[in-house]
Amino acid sequence: MKMLLDGQWVDRDEKIDVIDPFDNSVIDTVPSGNADDCETALKSAVKGFEITKKMTVYDRAQILFKAAAIISERLEEFATIIAREGSKTINEARTEASRCVNTMTASAEESKRILGETIPFDSFPGGEKRRGYYYRFPIGVVLAITPFNDPLNLVAHKIGPAFAAGNAVILKPATVTPLSAIKLVEAMVEAGMPPQAIQVITGYGSKIGDPMVSDERVRMISFTGGVEAGKHIASKAGIKKIGMELGSNSPVIVWKDADLDLAVDSCVSGSFWAAGQNCIGVQRLLVHKDIYNEFKTRFVERTKKYKIGDKMKEDTDMGPMITEGEAIRVEKWVNEAAQKGANVLCGGKRTGSLYEPTVLENLPPDVTIHCEEVFGPTVNLYQIDDLDEAIKEANSLPYGLLAGIFTSNIDVAFKASYDLDCGGVMINDSTDYRLDSMPFGGVKYSGLGREGLKFSLQELTEPKVVCFYLPNI
Ligand code: NAP
Repeated sequence: MKMLLDGQWVDRDEKIDVIDPFDNSVIDTVPSGNADDCETALKSAVKGFEITKKMTVYDRAQILFKAAAIISERLEEFATIIAREGSKTINEARTEASRCVNTMTASAEESKRILGETIPFDSFPGGEKRRGYYYRFPIGVVLAITPFNDPLNLVAHKIGPAFAAGNAVILKPATVTPLSAIKLVEAMVEAGMPPQAIQVITGYGSKIGDPMVSDERVRMISFTGGVEAGKHIASKAGIKKIGMELGSNSPVIVWKDADLDLAVDSCVSGSFWAAGQNCIGVQRLLVHKDIYNEFKTRFVERTKKYKIGDKMKEDTDMGPMITEGEAIRVEKWVNEAAQKGANVLCGGKRTGSLYEPTVLENLPPDVTIHCEEVFGPTVNLYQIDDLDEAIKEANSLPYGLLAGIFTSNIDVAFKASYDLDCGGVMINDSTDYRLDSMPFGGVKYSGLGREGLKFSLQELTEPKVVCFYLPNI
C-alpha cells in the first residue's frame, strides 16, 4: 500500500514489509517515509487546515457519516486486514471493525454539538455594559501517532474527532500494522474528506517522529502508545498541545460477595483479549481470601480451555503476539518471576510468536511482571484480606487507566470507585470494557487528557472569546 501525501498516493524505493505474526508471511509493503516526506505532509496539512476550518459542520458530519457507512459495508474486508497484520483473531477483529463504525458515527454526531456559552461579563465591577460569549475553534494541524494493538479503531479515535472539529490531520500509524490505518484513510477520502486535510505517512517513529513532533506547524500531538515513546515525544514537542493515551497495569478486585461466574468469565476474557496486548487488559487480580481458592480453580480451568493458534479460524480464542521478540520478552518476564518464587498455575510456554495464556500467583513485589505493563497474555493473582489493602495495592503502581471491582455490595462499590486512583472504575466488569463515547484516559503515567468523541473534541478545539462593549445600552 502507499502513503497519502499532499493528495497523492505515493510509494518509495525503500519499503517496509508488513508481516503476519502467525506465519511470518509478508502480506504487503509500505513506503519507508523520510524527512522530505515529513516536510511535504506538514506543508500540505497547513493548506488542508485552510480548507477544513471553512467547511460547514454539516459537510464535515456528512463525510464522517459516509465514511462510517463505507466501513460498515466492507466490515469483513476491514476485519480481515486487522486480523492479518496484527494479533487479533478474526472474531476480535470483527468487533474492532464494528466499533470503528460507531466511532466514526459518534464523531459525526458530536461535530454538531461543539458548543460555546454566554459569559456574564458583568459579574464583577468593571464588566458593566459588556456582553459576550465563546466559540470553540479547531486547533489546526494535528499529528496523530497510533499503536499496533487496535490498528483501526484507535486510528478512528484520532481522525474522526480531529476532522469533526475542523482540523487537518497527519497520521503516523504503527510500523507493524499500517494497513488498517491506510484503508481507513482511503475510506475517508472516498467519503469526501479533502485529501490535503489527511496525510498518512508510514515509516519508523524513531526516524520520522522528531521532525514532525518538534515542528511548530503542528498545533497538537495526539499520541497513543507506550510510556517510553510518550516521554520522548513530550521532551521534543515544544510549545504545543499534547494528548497522551499510554499504558497501564490494570487491577481488578474480586470481593468476597462477587458473582463468581460473571467474574471468571469477564476476567479471563479481559486478561487474554488480543493476546493481552490491550491497554485496559487485566494484569492484576486482587481476590478476597474467602473465595481465593475457588476463584483460582475456576479461572485456571477456564484459561486452560483457551484455543490458541491460527487467527483466521473461527474457533480460535487467542492469536499470536505481535512479534516473536515480544513473545520472548514475556517469556523472560514469566521466567524471572518463576525463578524468584512465583507459581505458574498454567501456561508459561512459547512457540514462536504464540505465548500460552498464563496465570501466576505468589509474586514477589520486585519482579518485572508485577511492576511493569506486561502487554501480553499473562495475569497475576493476589490474595487480599480487606478492601483498604486491595485499594492500596491497586493504587501502588505509577499507572492508572481503568480499574475494576466485582461485588454485590453497593457500599464496597462506592468506596472503590472513589478511592481507586485511575481514569475509570468498572463495577462488575473487568477493566476491558470501553464504550467508545465515554471519557477515556488515565492518570499518572497512563496519560494526559481524555478521548471519547465529545471529550476528544474539547481537546481538539480552543475556546475563542468574543466580548462586546456597548456603552450606549
Ligand atoms: P509504541 O512502541 O509506543 O508505539 C506507538 C506509536 O508511536 C507507533 O506508531 C510508533 O512508531 C510511534 N513512535 C515510537 N517512537 C516514536 C518517536 N520517537 N517519535 C514519534 N513516534 C514514535 O507502542 P506500541 O507498542 O505500538 O503499543 C503498545 C503501547 O500502547 C502499550 O503501552 C499500550 O498500553 C499503549 N496503548 C494505550 C492505549 C490507551 O488508549 N491508553 C491504547 C492502546 C495502546 P513505530 O511503530 O514506527 O515504532
